[in-house]
Amino acid sequence: LFVAFEGGDGAGKSTQSRLLRAALEAIGREVVLTREPGGTALGAAIREVLLHGDHVAPRAEALLFAADRAHHVATLVRPALERGAVVLTDRYMDSSIAYQGVARALRHDDIRDLSVWATEGLQPDLTVLLDVTPEQGRARRRGVHDRLEREEDAFHEAVRQGYLQRSEQDPARYLVLDASADPATLHTAVCRELAAHRPD
Ligand code: C5P
Repeated sequence: LFVAFEGGDGAGKSTQSRLLRAALEAIGREVVLTREPGGTALGAAIREVLLHGDHVAPRAEALLFAADRAHHVATLVRPALERGAVVLTDRYMDSSIAYQGVARALRHDDIRDLSVWATEGLQPDLTVLLDVTPEQGRARRRGVHDRLEREEDAFHEAVRQGYLQRSEQDPARYLVLDASADPATLHTAVCRELAAHRPD
């Protein structure tokens, strides 16, 4: 079982992925909780360049996220799924589609194709999209000064629309939640969705 948590900065992805890990571990499942960018040692180096380095040209940025993802899937995600673990990832290919494809206007379809190539087509069984407005996201990520998080609200709104468009293309694979709800309510909704779709 492969679940991706997606949403803009400050949506609560890491909180929700940790809550789900605890719930699944409590029923005896092996859970691998990981993230992009930075789920592997190579990924951590790429993350450092992306978040704390100098300006990276948009196409180079897209390729670095794709490189992180390719290595992450090949060395961590697929092996874990093959041994029967549940894999929860904080961001996956929809992040690239929303940020690089839509917000940086590199074309949704090109970025999607790049990610499909990088992952040999590995899609999550479920993507939980935590839909956050730019205002809410900004309030929640106060104090964070990563290069990519200093973008304006228009950028974050474009990201948001990118995610929502994506979820509409394949609604059966998405659970879209209003990220302004409290964490316990969101967690209950995630668990209910998983129980309904994945009785295992
Ligand atoms: O969610 P996390 O804090 O790990 O994301 C790191 C940063 O990278 C965030 O500021 C996010 O906006 C940005 N990002 C991006 N494009 C992606 C994934 C993340 O610009 N494909």
